Amino acid sequence: PSMLEVSDLGHTYTGQQEHTAIGGVTFDVDAGQLTCIVGPSGCGKSTLLRCIASLIRPSSGEVRMHGQPVRGVPEDLAVVFQDYGRSLFPWMSVRGNVEFPLRSENVPKEQRRERVRQTLEWVGLSGSERKYPWQLSGGMQQRVAIARALACRPALLLMDEPFASVDAQTRFDLEDLLLRVRAEQDTTILLVTHDIDESVYLGDRVLVLSRTPASIVADLPVDLGDE
Ligand code: ADP
Ligand code: ADP
Repeated sequence: PSMLEVSDLGHTYTGQQEHTAIGGVTFDVDAGQLTCIVGPSGCGKSTLLRCIASLIRPSSGEVRMHGQPVRGVPEDLAVVFQDYGRSLFPWMSVRGNVEFPLRSENVPKEQRRERVRQTLEWVGLSGSERKYPWQLSGGMQQRVAIARALACRPALLLMDEPFASVDAQTRFDLEDLLLRVRAEQDTTILLVTHDIDESVYLGDRVLVLSRTPASIVADLPVDLGDE
């Protein structure tokens, strides 16, 4: 089976106003692929990603990883959100933030240290281990959030507009960082963006969603050749 299989996934928010955010989305992702999901603001991209991550329970359909139905947030999955400011623990240093998921997985101390060291090196944060999030710029904070996600060496990395809140230069740096890390780490990545340029620059494949309720209107391979 494919690394990730999303079958007829639908979600309707209930409450004061019912709103169907995604309707019947089906696609497969092969291991190692970087798939960008692009669509207009408010179309249901975040909802789709949150359903895949089991952060919300879809109203219909199914998500499988390695052929197994996903129930509860799987251990080999990590998520990076746009809002890095709210996702980091403010009372923990950079090292503490990146080490946190490894502690919860009971990775032995020596191995933890080595992982943290290597991951911080990947994202260009060596030397900032002892700083706290409030001492860092937005771009650096988002590096910490990405490092924390990568520390567990997730099989599947979900990213929701990860570069939307940083300045242009930082964004270029982080995009290249992502491509570099991916080459070294063999992670399957699903990245949501509203930016077509970004999706074509980063993706091996681009899924284009319609306006809400989101459904896939195009599934495009990206092959820019050897530039
Ligand atoms: P996108 O990520 O593409 O901007 P979202 O998935 O955040 O889109 O939202 C899709 C639609 O669902 C939007 O119309 C949004 O207003 C609505 N929506 C999102 N979250 C909720 C919620 N918790 N309750 C009701 N409607 C919601
Ligand atoms: P984005 O477009 O960046 O994905 P949104 O502005 O759609 O973010 O949503 C921001 C937050 O507000 C999310 O947690 C979403 O679930 C919630 N939200 C969005 N629309 C609604 C809504 N109509 N009712 C309740 N919560 C909503």
